[in-house]
Amino acid sequence: MKYYSTNRQSPPADLEEVVIKSLAGDKGLYMPEYIPSVDKNVIAAMKDKSFREIADIVAHAFFGKDMDPQALSDIVNDTLSFETPVVHVNDNIYSLELYHGPTLAFKDVGARFMARLSSYFILRKGLDREVNVLVATSGDTGGAVANGFLGVPGINVFVLYPKGKVSAIQECQFTTLGKNITALEIDGTFDDCQALVKAAFVDDDLNRQMQLTSANSINVARFLPQSFYYFNAYAQLDKAGKADKLIVCVPSGNFGNITAGLFAYKMGLPIKHFIAANNRNDVFFEYLKTGKYNPRPSVETYANAMDVGNPSNFARILDLFGNSHEQIAALISGYRYTNEQIADTMRDVFNAHKYLLDPHGACGYQALTDFRLKPEETGVFLETAHPAKFKETVDMILNTDTAIPAKLQEFMKGEKKSIALGKDFEGFKAFLMK
Ligand SMILES: *Cc1c(COP(=O)(O)O)cnc(C)c1O
Repeated sequence: MKYYSTNRQSPPADLEEVVIKSLAGDKGLYMPEYIPSVDKNVIAAMKDKSFREIADIVAHAFFGKDMDPQALSDIVNDTLSFETPVVHVNDNIYSLELYHGPTLAFKDVGARFMARLSSYFILRKGLDREVNVLVATSGDTGGAVANGFLGVPGINVFVLYPKGKVSAIQECQFTTLGKNITALEIDGTFDDCQALVKAAFVDDDLNRQMQLTSANSINVARFLPQSFYYFNAYAQLDKAGKADKLIVCVPSGNFGNITAGLFAYKMGLPIKHFIAANNRNDVFFEYLKTGKYNPRPSVETYANAMDVGNPSNFARILDLFGNSHEQIAALISGYRYTNEQIADTMRDVFNAHKYLLDPHGACGYQALTDFRLKPEETGVFLETAHPAKFKETVDMILNTDTAIPAKLQEFMKGEKKSIALGKDFEGFKAFLMK
């Protein structure tokens, strides 16, 4: 399979190059030249398969021709050491809990898969220099990527995060690891962090001196494996006889997660409609309404992993639908929520249904409610992080003392180490060049 750039100025590349380089030379995002379909009968049979078996089928459809099939199965097995259960919340609304992995966020799936796939290609290629992963995080990505790549030979990871804008629990997941992980505390916003990473990828000096790559959802190996759990969710609901008219709602920031869902849909997964739930960072919501895309600086909210003002995967969504606003708006609905609305939803659902939402999942749940499901429809929202990851916010809103799972407590025992940098590119570049 070849991959082309959404900007169509760079030549098509194969998977190995796409995974190691991340971004095309013309700054476009890589897209597979065709989307393999999964046979209807194969999808129907998934209800009796495990998550690993389902993921294996989807992974082979995409990557199977470009690598050793057994190595791919091993990577899938190693990545999916946990389940993504679908849990009933109320009426015909279900939560797809994606937070049972090592750092308790959905990003564990993509990050771990990408780490193992990169390592496979680096070894296969016999690269004689180390690969440096640059990753900008608004909170959750850093932990997932750092843990996914921790100790992987031949790879260094630099995590850029906005000073004072990630929670203490999130921060310790990438500042306490040491080894091949370096945390960079940037005096700026998430968008500044992302801009630094993007500038580094197109800087000639840096690229001459070191092999750089990204572990953000611009990387194919990071976002595409996220399609696995859409199939798994379908299978679970199908088994319960609830999958006929499925509405899938995705709390969205950089739009990598929903893009993976759209890929699953294009592969043949019978999803009737998508909903993108936003917080006050609502450029996509505005795009659906007006057809105009106006990126702008992000604003801080309770759902901070969705505080993105210029979602990178928007380019992929446009490309998937031939730039047709009409097609995109027909398949995807948008909703946006203020902090007050997020808090109200969390309280309502906790009190009435005894279900603990995190602020991101709350946007998803509320959007499904406001969409007004028909009786024959089933709604599932992606619960993207464990509520304990946002303990301060959750406890403040619900007046609770949310228990911190043992996995998280382990991180909090470590010693925090990070390097403070400004948001100017020259300073960042000088640091990397050293
Ligand atoms: C990253 C993240 C999101 C947003 O996902 P995208 O793929 O960037 O749209 C939502 N919720 C949580 C908890 C996250 O960590």
